[in-house]
Amino acid sequence: MSAKKATTLVATPIAVQPEFDMFTYCELCGETRLDNELLEELEPRFDGWQAHLKAYRLAAPDAAETDPGFVILWLDKPVEDEVEGIWQDSPSAGMAFHNLAIHMVMSAVQNLVPELADKGCAPLPKPDKETIALFKKLGLEWNKEGTVSRQFAVFTNMPAITGCGTCMLKAKCGNVAS
Ligand code: SF4
Repeated sequence: MSAKKATTLVATPIAVQPEFDMFTYCELCGETRLDNELLEELEPRFDGWQAHLKAYRLAAPDAAETDPGFVILWLDKPVEDEVEGIWQDSPSAGMAFHNLAIHMVMSAVQNLVPELADKGCAPLPKPDKETIALFKKLGLEWNKEGTVSRQFAVFTNMPAITGCGTCMLKAKCGNVAS
């Protein structure tokens, strides 16, 4: 489903359950092992950030779970501020927690949309005006480059449209699959 074909959409909050996975996190960081001190900080931060994780399904009113729609999820600004604060003290620690936030939103979306579980990213559909207006109601600004005003966020089809064909990043993406 392309966001351009969307009819009237409503945003419904949905529960999300991100799970910290050491292997996936290490892969994201390009590391094979983690420093013990860092390791001890990761899970408490991950748990603490759950209160700032927002998720909504955008779909026609009364749509069934299997009907076309979208999911938008993001970590609120306090997490960005926390990561930025760490970055000021130590860029390497800042990068580690930046990656933790990415791992969190990706884990959350993969739990909601299991078809994305084996993919390191989620195809980004191009939102139409109605969808952008709905973002605004949720406190998010859409940027035409393909981001919202939160640093750690995912917008994708739900149920999934897998593959890269509908992804608005495919022209610039180095991992595009045919
Ligand atoms: S084009 Fe790139 S970002 Fe988009 S779904 Fe494919 S691999 Fe992911």
